[in-house]
Amino acid sequence: MGMTHIVVIGGGPAGYIAAIAAIQNGSQVTLVEEKYLGGTCLNVSCIPTKALLQSAEIVEKVKNALTFGIELPDGKTVINWGGEYRKEKDKSSSSSWAELVT
Ligand SMILES: Cc1cc2nc3c(=O)[nH]c(=O)nc-3n(C[C@H](O)[C@H](O)[C@H](O)COP(=O)(O)OP(=O)(O)OC[C@H]3O[C@@H](n4cnc5c(N)ncnc54)[C@H](O)[C@@H]3O)c2cc1C
Repeated sequence: MGMTHIVVIGGGPAGYIAAIAAIQNGSQVTLVEEKYLGGTCLNVSCIPTKALLQSAEIVEKVKNALTFGIELPDGKTVINWGGEYRKEKDKSSSSSWAELVT
């Protein structure tokens, strides 16, 4: 009997788990993703929102630094998601990973 060829549409958690399971069961798989591998969870929802929450937590801690005996001389908290932050992010981000493999 010939090998089954399965086409999975969507590279989110549902799609890539289905694709992996199908491969493990001996099928040939083509995964079709229109935007970014990893889907909403990796690129838009679960992971990025946790990163935002972490940023908010850090801002809150910095604002209350004196409570922990740490004095910040200029007393300012500035959020800067450009420059160095963007460079670091681009090195490690899932979207650059997705761009590499798509
Ligand atoms: C703000 C927010 C926070 C969340 N946080 C969490 C969390 O902390 N933990 C958790 O477990 N879940 C979380 N979720 C839920 C999680 O994002 C979803 O459960 C998960 O992404 C669903 O996976 P999926 O594969 O079904 O869909 P998706 O991840 O949406 O993947 C579907 C993929 O299919 C592609 N696609 C669609 N149509 C086509 C087409 N015609 N051709 C080719 N490709 C196509 C899309 O581009 C997409 O990549 C969160 C959701 C939101 C909105």
